[in-house]
Amino acid sequence: MKLTPFSWALCASAVISLSACAQTPAAPAPADAVEVSLTRLECGTGITNDVGRFSDTFAMQGVKIPFVFSCYLIKHGNEYMLWDTGHALTAGAVAPKVSLVDLLAQVQIKPEQIKFVGISHYHADHTGQMASFPQATLLIGPGDWANVTSAKPVGANPAFFAPWISGGSKLETVPLDKDVFGDGTVVMLTTPGHTPGHHSVLVRLKEKGNVLITGDLSHFHENYESNGVPSFNTSRAETLASLDRFKKLAAQLKATVILQHDARDVGKLPVFPAAAK
Ligand SMILES: [Zn+2]
Repeated sequence: MKLTPFSWALCASAVISLSACAQTPAAPAPADAVEVSLTRLECGTGITNDVGRFSDTFAMQGVKIPFVFSCYLIKHGNEYMLWDTGHALTAGAVAPKVSLVDLLAQVQIKPEQIKFVGISHYHADHTGQMASFPQATLLIGPGDWANVTSAKPVGANPAFFAPWISGGSKLETVPLDKDVFGDGTVVMLTTPGHTPGHHSVLVRLKEKGNVLITGDLSHFHENYESNGVPSFNTSRAETLASLDRFKKLAAQLKATVILQHDARDVGKLPVFPAAAK
């Protein structure tokens, strides 16, 4: 990673730990960066949700909103990353009609070509097909990993994480931000609150510009715009702080913001198999 003069100054300071230096926020992507593209994948069958429980102030009582289940393929040069893996094929009515492996086959990508699986958080609608990619390095917030591997995981299915729990597959916990490919083009952003280790992701594209993908920082526009907090989030305070950071980033970077579950945001990216570049 290139360190800016500012970040060098930080790293030179005795009060900043080495790990903080390693997590220096990414500099703007250089003009000569490798080609990066972003493709939305349908990772579940959409439903209309009664979103009452998505507000801890009863602000969403009786409101129904169509939900989709989105995963993303990020191509960085000749390397690939998946952002979230959607529902399992066994998820019933919300299960995807086509598996991730079969979708990737349509764009001539084999599962073993996926270098990283980055997940926003441990919930089943984001991790259901992870086990199809045991050759990938799993990138996950340490707070989420602690829950998945605890004696009694809450809201997570450890079976989806079996290749990494067994120690057979590569795991990297991501405590802060992570510049995934080291050139600032793809950055996991720490945005805790929905879960303890929740992340959003920034993808910087040459033609489309900056894209910020929420994970489940917000599920739909009404909550995003009003800073609404779901009643089942693990921390209200962290959620509000994460929303504050994310919105400031979006403004600073003039980013396209995509709420993964909001059907109204699907059209912000080309229809599969086309990719935004
Ligand atoms: Zn979700």
